[in-house]
Amino acid sequence: MQIKDVRPESFVKQICCDRCGLLAEVGEAEFQEFVSIELKAGYTSIFGDGNDVQIDLCQQCLKTSLGPWLRVSNATTRTDLLQKQLGRFDPDRHGGEFPTPADDASPALGSKAAEGPGSR
Ligand SMILES: [Zn+2]
Repeated sequence: MQIKDVRPESFVKQICCDRCGLLAEVGEAEFQEFVSIELKAGYTSIFGDGNDVQIDLCQQCLKTSLGPWLRVSNATTRTDLLQKQLGRFDPDRHGGEFPTPADDASPALGSKAAEGPGSR
């Protein structure tokens, strides 16, 4: 039996653009368009090994700061790109075939993989 209770949890109520100072509140459309970057710098990082790097940008500042390098696409563009990439797939060159529902139903492949290479 599970006995449930409720507890308060923290959440981001407002977000402030680190570049222009725009303040957006949760529930506002602008809030959903913010981009937050948070990373821990690695051994060879220019930010210093182990340092935390964070920034919150509104959509305007994201476009102003990174616009030329952003890859903006829509669902149609992504589907077209995927179809183009799949069209280049050649089973003779790349090996194998696309899995079919029949492959999922075959228990033989799964049992061979579980045996491992030295089990003969
Ligand atoms: Zn901004």
